[in-house]
Amino acid sequence: MDSFDRFPLRVRPRDGEPAIAALGRTCLRIGLASERELAAMFALRLNDVARGRANARLAVLMELSEREAGTLASWTPSDIGNTRVTLRGEVLRTPHDMTLGIGSGRRVRACPECLRADLADRDGGPKVQRPYVRAWWNVLDVYTCPIHLCTLSAVSGGGRVLAPDRSDEARLRAYWGGLCEAPAAAVPPSDTSADGYLLGRLGAMPRVDVPFLDALPLGEASAVLNWVGEVVVSGARANYARGLPFDQAADLRSRGLEACLDWPNGMNALLRTLQERAPANVRGLKGRFGRYYSRLYDDRGARADQEVRAVLRDAMRAYIVEHVPLDLGETVFRDGVEAGRRITAGHAAKLLGIRPKEMLALARAEGLLADGDTDGHLYGLLREDIEGRLHGTTAAA
Ligand SMILES: [Zn+2]
Repeated sequence: MDSFDRFPLRVRPRDGEPAIAALGRTCLRIGLASERELAAMFALRLNDVARGRANARLAVLMELSEREAGTLASWTPSDIGNTRVTLRGEVLRTPHDMTLGIGSGRRVRACPECLRADLADRDGGPKVQRPYVRAWWNVLDVYTCPIHLCTLSAVSGGGRVLAPDRSDEARLRAYWGGLCEAPAAAVPPSDTSADGYLLGRLGAMPRVDVPFLDALPLGEASAVLNWVGEVVVSGARANYARGLPFDQAADLRSRGLEACLDWPNGMNALLRTLQERAPANVRGLKGRFGRYYSRLYDDRGARADQEVRAVLRDAMRAYIVEHVPLDLGETVFRDGVEAGRRITAGHAAKLLGIRPKEMLALARAEGLLADGDTDGHLYGLLREDIEGRLHGTTAAA
């Protein structure tokens, strides 16, 4: 068989729909139990369909016009290596950033309002085939529909196709896991800004320029929104955007985006807040900066996001070297820092060969401490002040 025309009914790819989802809609329309069954009839491999390797073959089988074939290909992820795909020219890691939407009983993510708008669209053909997957629903860091200002809904056990003699409602419910009837939880527009940024890069919404993020692959830019948002919301404590309810994750990520608009100043302001909030008894960079520091410190080779960690480490190192008092021999991300601008009072005492108590008294007497920092814990001392004194002493001797 060389086309789906043995079936009297045809399905047209929709704008925004990946090929694997168009195949699923075809099954739903004609009542085949699964994409796998349809694929087997035509010697297609589902993995190839999901990874953009079967677009040309599908165009023939589905008897698509050139324009339709273009629509299908433009929203189908395309393989680049085993763990990454491009979607709309943007690089995403799979399965880390994006699911490919294969398998009966799969987890379905969708905007219930988009589904209802599809159902109401009489130009979309028979009812069971009207709702369609937007590829961006499969991007795991997208939690809202910026079009309908609501959270996406997710449910496991979707993708099931019932026989054509069952009612449209029953068939839609089995396929969409009940999401067509799911309530939509409204979110304020400000909480959709992170998703709006991602959708802008994918060309599903107007593009928003964020130069710092624009320079990163999309999946890694998205990870930055999680990490920076976690600092905004939870400070030095651990948090995990992917473990939050969708509305909270969207809020956290959108606040992360705000801090990225003026990079690195927005991030530096956050680091300054962490530095000032750190309890007086904490020492070292992990103590002051908590989860954000240790996350960037984690440079195990197997991690998929080394590039972005290196970029963030450089920005944080620049902040630390300028603003954070370092102890003698203290390293920043394992690297020795010879020229940190600020040093701890203990470090200064060692340089001058005096006791810490004497050092503090000297610093107070000579006005070497920053305003509001009575014991040097927050900002320490300027290295140049201490070195100048050291050289002066040496010369006098
Ligand atoms: Zn929607």
